[in-house]
Amino acid sequence: MIPTLATLHFLDPVRLLSRAHMSWDGDPQYPVNHPRLHGLSPPRAPDYLDLHRCTVHPQRDNDAPWLRPRHERRETPIVNDTYFSTEHELLRQTFRHFVETEIAPFVHDWEEAGLFPRDLYRKAAGIGLLNLGYPEEYGGIPADLLAQVVAWEEVARAGSGGLGASLGSLHIALPPIVSHGTTEQKTRFLPSVLSGERIAALAVTEPGGGSDVAGITTRARREDDVFVVDGAKTFITSGVRADQFTVAVRTGDSGHGGISVLIIEADSAGFTRSGPLKKMGWWASDTAELSFDGCRVPADNLIGMPGRGFPLIMENFQKERLQMAVVANITAELALTASLIHATERHTFGKPLASRQVIRHKLVEMATKVEISRQYTYRVADQMNRGQDQVKEVSMAKLFATETSDFVTDAAVQVFGGFGYMREYLVERLYRDNRVLSIGGGTTEIMKEIIAKHIL
Ligand SMILES: Cc1cc2nc3c(=O)[nH]c(=O)nc-3n(C[C@H](O)[C@H](O)[C@H](O)COP(=O)(O)OP(=O)(O)OC[C@H]3O[C@@H](n4cnc5c(N)ncnc54)[C@H](O)[C@@H]3O)c2cc1C
Repeated sequence: MIPTLATLHFLDPVRLLSRAHMSWDGDPQYPVNHPRLHGLSPPRAPDYLDLHRCTVHPQRDNDAPWLRPRHERRETPIVNDTYFSTEHELLRQTFRHFVETEIAPFVHDWEEAGLFPRDLYRKAAGIGLLNLGYPEEYGGIPADLLAQVVAWEEVARAGSGGLGASLGSLHIALPPIVSHGTTEQKTRFLPSVLSGERIAALAVTEPGGGSDVAGITTRARREDDVFVVDGAKTFITSGVRADQFTVAVRTGDSGHGGISVLIIEADSAGFTRSGPLKKMGWWASDTAELSFDGCRVPADNLIGMPGRGFPLIMENFQKERLQMAVVANITAELALTASLIHATERHTFGKPLASRQVIRHKLVEMATKVEISRQYTYRVADQMNRGQDQVKEVSMAKLFATETSDFVTDAAVQVFGGFGYMREYLVERLYRDNRVLSIGGGTTEIMKEIIAKHIL
């Protein structure tokens, strides 16, 4: 059940800031009018120059005004009042400030190190970034789905897909517990993750296959009051550091009717893991392989009914796909913004790139796709928020958003030329990080199969 918008009064930005032990300078308009929200804090890593300039208004006296992208003249971020209220936008400002001060300046180093500090989970929980939309009695902050969309968008604006994926791995691990867990399970497994003390991950994919969830082979055998688990999982986001895993296992016969979901703690006997796996992108996320060798798990850790795990996993996918569509849209938007700026500033053959029709039309194509994709994703989120079945639509949103981000990130690298291939430029990372969005959470081909089932 998604909480209603009426619960958003819990999301008082000042209260959230004080929860995160952040300073507040007494400005009653804070954070909306706070100068740092306009991106004026100095970037520490070179690639943030590009990122920050997505939100600041650089003074350039040399260029003709018509060459300046419109977004640079905006005083506030995009407000879409069809779907987002003033409360949502206040929340956005709060999260944006947190991302700009606590995440963005360090992302480059964390990306290069392949990890971000564990403490960030606690800080993010303090500001409401992790626990938004979860039940209050377990440490959550009641909020509607659009507020969560805002949170996902602002984290994605840090420009590190890996950081967003690992910091947000709880959003794919906890919902099955929230929706189908017992009170005892919720009490044991939600609060410490929602407060950022513990890390939660979802483990469905196996070395033998990820798309075919009904074909998983990790077996859980019931012995008195425990399940004995044997098998392996791979590509598990946050898997190296997670304290608890929501794991798809086979408790019954072959096919989707034999699947159950267990909560397995990292200190369980018979559990080992290896990683981090080296990846094309998402460097700041710890991706692991998990191994269960006679791993003993209390039978009380079974989520829902035995053999009813498949629909539970499919239900979980819906929100994950929405989240990936949102991340794809922001990835594309960042790449577009960086391209608009670069095309305006970069001169070739004595003229700005943006004065060339071929480049201008490319930018127009990018902008058009980004705008359409965002609007459609918001619409789907809004419908989901109203409790509407959106299985086909959310698959379409993920399909369209990831195809858009594929196109836009590729085009952005091209607009940047050689710079686009260099590690210190944001578009280089966006291009790499983007690639997984059409694979994870259900591939493009699987999205098309789902849509086909609905239209044929
Ligand atoms: C960085 C990263 C993080 C991840 N994090 C997690 C995580 O936290 N938890 C988790 O459980 N999983 C995670 N995954 C796994 C991800 O969900 C799977 O990779 C994905 O579902 C695809 O499964 P697969 O890799 O086994 O590809 P396969 O299923 O082997 O598919 C290979 C190719 O064949 C295509 N294909 C498959 N079946 C069909 C068909 N019937 N018709 C047409 N084409 C088909 C696919 O679309 C794909 O292009 C992660 C993956 C990556 C790369």
